[in-house]
Amino acid sequence: MARPVDVAALVSGIRDGRRASVSQAITLVESSRPEHRSAARELLAELTPLTGGAVRVGVSGVPGVGKSTFIESLGLSLTRAGKKVGVLAVDPSSVRTGGSVLGDKTRMAQLSIDPQSFIRPSPSAGTLGGVARATTQAMSVLEAAGYDVVLVETVGVGQSEITVAGMVDTFVFLTLARTGDQLQGIKKGILEIADVIAVNKADQDHEGEARAAARELAGALRLVHGKGEWAPPVVTCSGLTDVGVDDVWQRVLDHRQHLGEDGLAHKRAGQQLEFTWALVRDELDQRLKRSPGVAAIRDEVRAQVLAGELAAPAAADRILAAYDG
Ligand code: GDP
Repeated sequence: MARPVDVAALVSGIRDGRRASVSQAITLVESSRPEHRSAARELLAELTPLTGGAVRVGVSGVPGVGKSTFIESLGLSLTRAGKKVGVLAVDPSSVRTGGSVLGDKTRMAQLSIDPQSFIRPSPSAGTLGGVARATTQAMSVLEAAGYDVVLVETVGVGQSEITVAGMVDTFVFLTLARTGDQLQGIKKGILEIADVIAVNKADQDHEGEARAAARELAGALRLVHGKGEWAPPVVTCSGLTDVGVDDVWQRVLDHRQHLGEDGLAHKRAGQQLEFTWALVRDELDQRLKRSPGVAAIRDEVRAQVLAGELAAPAAADRILAAYDG
């Protein structure tokens, strides 16, 4: 994208659902170059009236739990039903290393050649906040292009799940029956953000085990969630044999129904507000890193703190003063 971006042409390509335009627009919103950032803002302003129409679903779980196999099974079932399905990924490992947990293997071989689907690996530039911004905007591009469902895949490590939960309507957590102690294996935070839980790989003589794990989890969840609240259903499925995947989808639809139109609008509005502040924090962090004033004293402050000559609060004050100056 060396030439100036033709935003009007991109918008009309996206409206027509052209894959090349969708792809180019996502590349644009992933870019951190200032001229791209302003073109991306312009593009998104144009697209905004066309967005909001998709069912937004997060899919999470540890590497190997079967996320891509599950998404392929679910995605193909949805495209067979006439839906257009977008798949995005938020992969924190791509931020740190440029490599990725989610992107390196051949994934979703059938879904990736399905003309009704659009799969995009995780953006790798920058920070988790930057990836979240790019992914949220990519979701808008897909919605404007008429995608009915957007699945956002993320790995079950730390902050990335919270981040994805903050951009979707329904958060699906995949787990396994054979992870030893169920409750040890699952961080409490996940139980709090999951809307639907599926014990995956319930096949090849493991169905009984999976069902027992599901019952145990459902019991634990009743302790986490209060009366009247949505109690996340715990089901079993197998992405490999396509068994129970449609049931997981039905639970996603049930969750939407539980939210209702107003509840969903309220949830999305709250997410926008949260996201606004996340973007501000991310940008401030970037500015701190780029600040010449901070750069000028950074090494000295570092040495003094390491030598025990400067206490952390005083060091922080000096850095902030250097930033403000
Ligand atoms: P991801 O890392 O979470 O995306 O997991 P993958 O979808 O790549 O699957 C990891 C491994 O588990 C692969 O060898 C899959 O073939 C296998 N696998 C995935 N889903 C299932 C399933 O439902 N049942 C069984 N038995 N194996 C599965």
